[in-house]
Amino acid sequence: MQKTIHDPAMLAEGHGHNGSDAVADAWRERDLSVLWHPCTQMREHQRDRAPGPRTDTLPLLPIARGEGPWLIGRDGRRYLDAVSSWWVNLFGHAEPRIAEAIATQARELQHVILAGCSHAPAVELAEKLLALAPRESGRAPLAKVFYADNGSAGVEVALKMAFHWFRNRGEDRRTKFVALEGGYHGETLGALAVGDVPLYRRVYAPLLTEALFTPSPDAFLARPGQSAASHAEEAADALARLLDHHAGEICALILEPRVQCAGGMRMHDPVYLKRARELCDVHGVFLIADEIAVGFGRTGTMFACEQAGIAPDLLCLSKGLTGGSLPLCAVLATQELYEGFLDDSRERAFLHSHSYTGNPLACAAALATLGIFESDDVLARNRATSTRMAELAASIGAHAHVADVRQAGMIVAFEFGRDGDKATPFDPAARFGLHAYRAALDRGVLLRPLGDVLYWMPPYTVDDDALALLADTTAAVIDQAIRETRCA
Ligand SMILES: *Cc1c(COP(=O)(O)O)cnc(C)c1O
Repeated sequence: MQKTIHDPAMLAEGHGHNGSDAVADAWRERDLSVLWHPCTQMREHQRDRAPGPRTDTLPLLPIARGEGPWLIGRDGRRYLDAVSSWWVNLFGHAEPRIAEAIATQARELQHVILAGCSHAPAVELAEKLLALAPRESGRAPLAKVFYADNGSAGVEVALKMAFHWFRNRGEDRRTKFVALEGGYHGETLGALAVGDVPLYRRVYAPLLTEALFTPSPDAFLARPGQSAASHAEEAADALARLLDHHAGEICALILEPRVQCAGGMRMHDPVYLKRARELCDVHGVFLIADEIAVGFGRTGTMFACEQAGIAPDLLCLSKGLTGGSLPLCAVLATQELYEGFLDDSRERAFLHSHSYTGNPLACAAALATLGIFESDDVLARNRATSTRMAELAASIGAHAHVADVRQAGMIVAFEFGRDGDKATPFDPAARFGLHAYRAALDRGVLLRPLGDVLYWMPPYTVDDDALALLADTTAAVIDQAIRETRCA
């Protein structure tokens, strides 16, 4: 008898899907004949279909559905989503409360133009976000919300707002942005211009507006024996010199507070954020906090800025905002910024829009996500989970080729070296990360290394058993990938 999803026996066995390697292979064929995947050298997928040994290929993983922190493949196997599906998922896949909120909203109002119209999910979400946003004593709080529909678009909004605010005041010399080395803010041309991940940026460099890059406070770059805080202070001193040198030319500093995620999960001491805030104030420069990846409890506090006790002038939120269900970005701005656009002239208005600005379904999903933070005491649970992650990471840190283990709340990252030392990184050409990725998939874990940096960024609902699987798998794939690549 052919087993299908309707077969009660299959459901009882907990499969619920007629997966097999043949089904998955057929799906790969179908996919690759029509899809161009994001952030992918498609040839690495194509090779997967060629006969012969599967080295240097990137397996395409067909997913049938999701369940908590698990992805269920068309091959019938379960995969632990250790990267929260590109850092968006907070409470697991197919979270019922979020699903319900989307379904309910879909029967009410799916979308309406937000220019000239208003609707409840957009307003309620703005009220809640402003109430939650980081605060700083003596500073006016974030007061207005502008929606975009993805992180990069939100970064564009923040950059344009900062620039335009000065234009409106007649400060035409303020045309430059300062960004951090090793930072990442998205893939659109404006966002790419303030990013410094060479793999994404280099080829488009001729198209990009010029940004001023300042040294990263990244603790990994500290000299031997130097503390993270001391390195962060030095980076802040460099920022001070840059701001002095370009006095009156800069409209904003943009940074990822606490963790430069796409740049390799590089972490810094919060003292840098304090100093950066002070320096921005001294120089009359806006501070844009890009919390697209680190917001919503990822680094231990609701927002990473809280760890430095600072509030930015512009705050970009996305990824976890909808719990990983729908694309949405919120850019929070101060009243001062907002008022800089109030005028009789339309050109002084912020004439930026996206068709799906403030989409009601996405806002409803975000409201459900914030509801879960309220009802489930998420941050307290995350503290316990991150303690467990720290214990497990420490045992992996003992591995002879691990050069660095670092953690910020629900993010753990491992960096490698031939001699277990930062000074002797693996040869990137050996593609240790790709081998680790494949080996982890074979063991039922979706780890997606950034270059050769392995990291854990699981949904918050991950339990002890899943964490144990993650740690065992990580230890095993490090050995296997080193064997395969002979890079150590
Ligand atoms: C992912 C990310 C972005 C871009 O968001 P998209 O929704 O992928 O466009 C911007 N900034 C940071 C810090 C990110 O991690």
